[in-house]
Amino acid sequence: MNFKSKLKNILSAALAVSTLLSGFTPITTYAAQVNEYVDPADIWVSANGRTNELDFNATITQETSWCTVCNKDTIMLTYRTPEYTKSGTTALNRGVKFSDGTMVDGKTKGNLDSGRPNQDASYSTYHWTKSICQTCGTINSVDGKDAYGFSRNVYGLNSCDHNFFLDFDNTTYTPYNENYHTTVLKAGRYCQFCKGTKARASEKRESHNFTETVDGQIGNNRFFISEKCDDCGYSTSEYVTAKSVVSSYYGNADNKSHTVTVSDLSDSGVHTSIRYGTSAGKCNLTSAPNYTDAGYYPVYYEISYKYQGETMTENGVSYVWLLEDKKDDNNGGTVIVLPEKHEHDYRYLETVAPSCDNLGYERWQCDGCGNL
Ligand SMILES: [Zn+2]
Ligand SMILES: [Zn+2]
Ligand SMILES: [Zn+2]
Ligand SMILES: [Zn+2]
Ligand SMILES: [Zn+2]
Repeated sequence: MNFKSKLKNILSAALAVSTLLSGFTPITTYAAQVNEYVDPADIWVSANGRTNELDFNATITQETSWCTVCNKDTIMLTYRTPEYTKSGTTALNRGVKFSDGTMVDGKTKGNLDSGRPNQDASYSTYHWTKSICQTCGTINSVDGKDAYGFSRNVYGLNSCDHNFFLDFDNTTYTPYNENYHTTVLKAGRYCQFCKGTKARASEKRESHNFTETVDGQIGNNRFFISEKCDDCGYSTSEYVTAKSVVSSYYGNADNKSHTVTVSDLSDSGVHTSIRYGTSAGKCNLTSAPNYTDAGYYPVYYEISYKYQGETMTENGVSYVWLLEDKKDDNNGGTVIVLPEKHEHDYRYLETVAPSCDNLGYERWQCDGCGNL
């Protein structure tokens, strides 16, 4: 319901402004904003007092008409609001002409049969009209001094001329839940003056029309997946973890071969592949190199994570550290000297430049143990 609710906000903001300033001066500003068609019944504002309510829901235009007070053509602010009655037929059929219930004779009172549109009343194909001369300020001066409405803050009923009805065809979408939205197809005709609408609406529940985007965020070891319905705007998002840890090996040179170990902590759906190399930037081995002789061997790796067509790459280095197998004659035991516990000494590794789907970040690695 994007369009409608936005319009409602504009309207209520404008109404708030116009209620603060007494009278009816600034009304042209919001009349100008309501340039797109909206059925007034769908955005009806209740107000205290019949005339106020008609004012709030009016379509307001500036028109040139003959003012009987100024005795010339003047600009008139003209207010038109659809008539909604419980019976669906105009009160004018029963002789009621004015919004205060006054009959065509200008003396007796009748029943307006008014109600709230979309609740207990429907559009009668008549509209309520009032005008204000912008030169002398007289209300309904067009009708002449003898008319009941002259210089009185009331609306009079007029037929919505069928020559000025416009066709329309509107579809609105409102989110219903995570799976569905409500589609309202509304088609019909409306009076171009008061926007009173004769329409048929059909409503159905349809699945969201999701467009999915997947962004790799390697600095956070995750993919960010967002889905947005192109119709109603409903959106969801989630993170999918993409993380593999390549652990270093520390131990004695024991005539057996040793290498780094990999644990994949990625969520399901993430496809991970790793290439290894003995120097940075040259990762072309499909399995990690093995070492037997004592030494300190860096194992460079390049991990590629793939999720629904989006791929991101992580580079790093771990170590195989094999120590001389020292036999101690005193106790005949094997002493394994593991690297002592240490404060990680992080060294700058690389900067990943920002791209369209990544903010960019720096990578640091501990010089002692290879911890990233
Ligand atoms: Zn005038
Ligand atoms: Zn009308
Ligand atoms: Zn939707
Ligand atoms: Zn590669
Ligand atoms: Zn460390």
